[in-house]
Amino acid sequence: MSQSTATRRDALLRLAAFLPKAGRHYSAHRNLDKGAEHQDSVSGLSAYIRHRMITEREVMSAVLATHSPAQAEKFIQEVLWRAYFKGWLEHRPQVWARYRDDLRDAQAGLSGGNKSYHQAISGRTGISVFDAWAAELVATGYLHNHARMWFASIWVFTLKIPWVLGADFFLRHLCDGDPASNTLSWRWVAGLHTAGKTYLATKENIERFAGARFFQYGQPQGLDRLAGRAVALVEPPLPAPAMPQLPQLPVEAPAGGLLLTEEDLSLDVTFSPTGVCLFMPTDEALLPMAAGVRAFKDAAGRDALARAAVKWPAAQVTGIASAIAQVVDWVVEQQFDCLYVAYVPQGYIRDIFSELTQALSGVGCQLLYLMHDYDRLIWPHTAKGFFGLKRHIPGLLKTLDLVRPEGVEPVNEQLEF
Ligand SMILES: Cc1cc2nc3c(=O)[nH]c(=O)nc-3n(C[C@H](O)[C@H](O)[C@H](O)COP(=O)(O)OP(=O)(O)OC[C@H]3O[C@@H](n4cnc5c(N)ncnc54)[C@H](O)[C@@H]3O)c2cc1C
Repeated sequence: MSQSTATRRDALLRLAAFLPKAGRHYSAHRNLDKGAEHQDSVSGLSAYIRHRMITEREVMSAVLATHSPAQAEKFIQEVLWRAYFKGWLEHRPQVWARYRDDLRDAQAGLSGGNKSYHQAISGRTGISVFDAWAAELVATGYLHNHARMWFASIWVFTLKIPWVLGADFFLRHLCDGDPASNTLSWRWVAGLHTAGKTYLATKENIERFAGARFFQYGQPQGLDRLAGRAVALVEPPLPAPAMPQLPQLPVEAPAGGLLLTEEDLSLDVTFSPTGVCLFMPTDEALLPMAAGVRAFKDAAGRDALARAAVKWPAAQVTGIASAIAQVVDWVVEQQFDCLYVAYVPQGYIRDIFSELTQALSGVGCQLLYLMHDYDRLIWPHTAKGFFGLKRHIPGLLKTLDLVRPEGVEPVNEQLEF
């Protein structure tokens, strides 16, 4: 991933190249970690999907036009893991708040020096596979799913470093870094997501799925140090899950501007906004990202603005607002009574949205959230385990108009650049 590939065009090209492999090939080979240069068994679409430069619905639609639901079952399920995690966190905003608090405490604890932590993030633990993944993450902004699982497991159970510090390291260095998928995957490995169920990285499993990159010259260094068991972490009980009221637009939606955020660069909007602006806070306190990730997001944002200018030629497409005050100045200048924004899910952007809502209401402008049908349909099934969503998948695909009745030829929807 790099800023030069942070465009929707690149997302569509990558999807097109991956399509032939999204069926049985993915199902059989997706767990192989072949290293950054050779990952060809997975889509590599996550940074695009995470910023909604391409939507999950578009990806599924293209895959299901190429493969039958049975052939594509595994890939569709994996894509749905993302919606599952997003919805799960919407039901429990406290988990994100708790992560932020615990991270602040753990970071304060680092001031006395924590050798293991510094060795881990600089790839100097002596466990050579772990060190290779740390270096790969920093250099490329990406890690294979299996590598993420092994890495998190070694971090928590072998190196015994607080999991929140590892989640933070990932979130700041992954181009697809996502508050829900990342936080909840780390919690899953640590035994906090499904209480008591942990993920243990073993030498045998690493050899089986990453042997081609690490075991050509014998056993890599440090694997004998891996923890032999993974005892689940514990935490105070969480409040019962509750789905927030999802926004509904008024029947007669008033004219207004569109505010884009990194959470959704899809331009999936049924009306023509009179103005468009990108809110890309660069507040270091929000999340001090790695330079490559920052560059990817900035380029993705510029690409979205360029697409907006083409899609809505009559709209005033403004540049990037990096602070709330700049958004307010723009709204006042454009005399908007109402500003639309794609729903901002739990995470670091959402954390500053109450401040933005307040600042806008101070100048007489109402913030209205737009929602994808995809999220609206799926999130209600994400209150508990993934299985609760999985059993609804056939019905959801039908409702989303993604599966064709028997005998009907697939329609390959033309995806717009
Ligand atoms: C500790 C840990 C941290 C993670 N952090 C993130 C993160 O910050 N952001 C992120 O998008 N994913 C995260 N994942 C999930 C997963 O590793 C990545 O989505 C996947 O590796 C991306 O590569 P890909 O696009 O080639 O995936 P593919 O295998 O091609 O899958 C297609 C798409 O499905 C979604 N997806 C696949 N697997 C998962 C999964 N297990 N959970 C959620 N969505 C999934 C992604 O959007 C992905 O692009 C994390 C997993 C672990 C174990």
